Amino acid sequence: MFTPPNYLSPSSIRLFRDCPQKFKLSKFDKIQEPPTWQQYVGTFVHDVLEHLYQVEAEERTVDRVRELAATRWEAGDWEAQVLALAEPLGSIKDFKLTAFQCMKNLWSIENPQDIELDGMEHKVEANVEGVQMLGFIDRFIFEDDGAVAISDYKTGKVPSSKFTTQNEEFFQLLAYALMLQEADQETTSRLQLLYLKEPIVHEISVTPVNLAVAKGVIVETKESLDASCGTGEFHCNITKLCDWCYFKKSGDCPAFQK
Ligand code: SF4
Repeated sequence: MFTPPNYLSPSSIRLFRDCPQKFKLSKFDKIQEPPTWQQYVGTFVHDVLEHLYQVEAEERTVDRVRELAATRWEAGDWEAQVLALAEPLGSIKDFKLTAFQCMKNLWSIENPQDIELDGMEHKVEANVEGVQMLGFIDRFIFEDDGAVAISDYKTGKVPSSKFTTQNEEFFQLLAYALMLQEADQETTSRLQLLYLKEPIVHEISVTPVNLAVAKGVIVETKESLDASCGTGEFHCNITKLCDWCYFKKSGDCPAFQK
């Protein structure tokens, strides 16, 4: 009844696992969720920090990131984009302050002058256990032993360990590690999540066990997705998180239609 997508990304896998109905509304019915303040903060911060790592190491200072933020703000017409948000969480000044604080916090978790990234926004396509995957890796470096260390900026809250296991928190990066292994025969040794708001770094070593868990999640999700596409049934996963789901508010979710 539905044709499965040609590629899955770690985020689309997470979307299907969170709620198959949400996946359907987004990917098949193509109902666009309006962008949010938090997404825009994340996109803007990622953009500025990507440019920061393109300048010479000795120029990577807080003053330089302030200049880059001003340039990227204009280039991306961010003022108009933020003003057009349906549910802004503050003024333009509040947006800039939140984003700049995240950028400045980078210096609390690493010294940008000491780091040379080997890849940023790196596109990777791979077949993982029969599942075609596509993704963009925020940043990676080759370590002295030739293994890869993958890292990713996060501008949201640190997930509570009460509700999120380490393998769930790192699923996206474990999936990238599998993809690099399949696509380029690269071995990944370390994964880092750089939570810029806190600021704090969460880091794990890559092991055969956590890679196998991530591979299992990918395969199992693909099987469930194919089954849903075949039957046309996309389960509504009703949880407390529905209160934050756009499709509840918009009236598109069948579970909340009157
Ligand atoms: S409101 Fe809940 S059940 Fe409906 S699509 Fe959103 S997450 Fe799924």
